[in-house]
Amino acid sequence: MSVLVVGSVALDTIETPFGSVKDAVGGSATYISAAASYFVSPIRLVGVVGGDFPRKGMAFLEERNIDLEGLEIIADGKTFRWSGRYHYDLNMRDTLSTDLNVFEHFDPKIPERHRKIRTVCLGNIDPVLQRKVLQQMDNPRIVVCDTMNYWINGKRDELLKTLKMINVLILNDSEARLLSGEPNLIKSAKVIRTMGPSVVIIKKGEHGALLLTDSVAFSAPAYPMENIFDPTGAGDSFAGGFIGWLARTEDMSEENLKRAVIYGSALASFCVEKFGVEGLADLTYLRIQDRFREFRELSRFDED
Ligand code: AMP
Repeated sequence: MSVLVVGSVALDTIETPFGSVKDAVGGSATYISAAASYFVSPIRLVGVVGGDFPRKGMAFLEERNIDLEGLEIIADGKTFRWSGRYHYDLNMRDTLSTDLNVFEHFDPKIPERHRKIRTVCLGNIDPVLQRKVLQQMDNPRIVVCDTMNYWINGKRDELLKTLKMINVLILNDSEARLLSGEPNLIKSAKVIRTMGPSVVIIKKGEHGALLLTDSVAFSAPAYPMENIFDPTGAGDSFAGGFIGWLARTEDMSEENLKRAVIYGSALASFCVEKFGVEGLADLTYLRIQDRFREFRELSRFDED
């Protein structure tokens, strides 16, 4: 039981109304792996960093028992950097810069002994790289993919090829509209399902998430939080919690997909409570389960 995660390992510079941080350890693969590591272990991470990636970043991943055999280190290269600024309404974020650096020439190589892993999470990176990873895998059972406007706008044709090879696509509401050309989210998910994935999950920031298949429309609430410090990585933590639960249970039934969405929402809620990856540092499976149960209470009501 394991999960192969590919994605960015990054240094993030973030401004929120509550503070700012420069070159914090982040990246889609970092958040996904950390979140998923509470459900299955070890997570096998595939990515690339430069010689400037700090020791504390490695230590964070190692402490979560994340296997780094697939993390390439290019000693004379620079780590991927992303910088973003959040508005007073934390659902609004401007990307200030994206510097691909070592990702520009990255050619992912999956270690031989990881090719049989059945559960794969394609974190947000160039869809060409996502596909290169899948092509090396030996018939995985569950492939979850995340993407963002940067790739929907910049590499649409490549993304469409990748979508044909996956089971579950996770994206946010504006990205779903952008990808499908359809403003209504239910119709939008229908259009996206014709592109490949049979399951579409649309995240709506602090308003929860929708799980949409041919036969299910499930709406998960967001956890009501008083203190949101930094929404960075919420989407990736969601993906990590979601795939972690699926890998732990190896059950793709509708009821279990719903549970996975709630575990994803729970991990996202822990992530945003602190800056950067801190919110995912010291959780326990028991705390996660407590929050999972709180979600059930959030929208439970009596019929009469
Ligand atoms: P999220 O807040 O879940 O959407 O993800 C934020 C993380 O995504 C940050 O840690 C960034 O380093 C990473 N990220 C942002 N843009 C990109 C991109 N174009 N490709 C790969 N990773 C990115």
